[in-house]
Amino acid sequence: MIALGQQIENKFLTAVNKKSGNNILDCYQCGKCVSTCPVSSFMDFPPREIMQMIKLGLKDETYMANSMWFCLTCAACSGRCPREIDIPRVMESIRHLAIEENVNPDDPHVKNIRKFHEIFLDMVRRYGRNYELRMMAEFNIRTRNLFKDMHLAPKALLKGKIPIGHEKVKSAKAIQRMFKLAEKLENTK
Ligand code: SF4
Ligand code: SF4
Repeated sequence: MIALGQQIENKFLTAVNKKSGNNILDCYQCGKCVSTCPVSSFMDFPPREIMQMIKLGLKDETYMANSMWFCLTCAACSGRCPREIDIPRVMESIRHLAIEENVNPDDPHVKNIRKFHEIFLDMVRRYGRNYELRMMAEFNIRTRNLFKDMHLAPKALLKGKIPIGHEKVKSAKAIQRMFKLAEKLENTK
């Protein structure tokens, strides 16, 4: 039984605050982020509600929502937040926490966005930049949809929208070091 005045630790709130460098308790639910967000209507819960869910410690519900995966990291919301909360950073943090805790969403769209996210990061880590053609191929293979958007490929290739082959990136090694350093910093937190 919880005694009167006893506080229950909200571990989820603590974890998100720590990872994002924000204090979610600062959010006073004004909703400005929702009116600015270009994709809030596609989200299960818009940013204001996500803030409230974190405050309430609703970890599972937050992880299973598509909101953090639909976030474009455009920062339109944080530019208008009167409490100066870095909302895209919060969204990114809950994405990382969900990956770390190996949460597998049911929503097929979220599954695909998550795969796209992983392939993109892996591409940048390996080559120092993204390779559209390779990324499209990997994405189609990993989502078991081999011919997805194939009809668009000839036109895009002819117009030079999708470069063939790998352009050498001078700073690829430096980018790999940057990834390693970021992972190290993340593990020491
Ligand atoms: S704009 Fe900021 S304070 Fe207002 S609801 Fe969104 S996160 Fe909270
Ligand atoms: S950063 Fe994410 S939550 Fe904020 S406005 Fe852009 S899409 Fe919406």
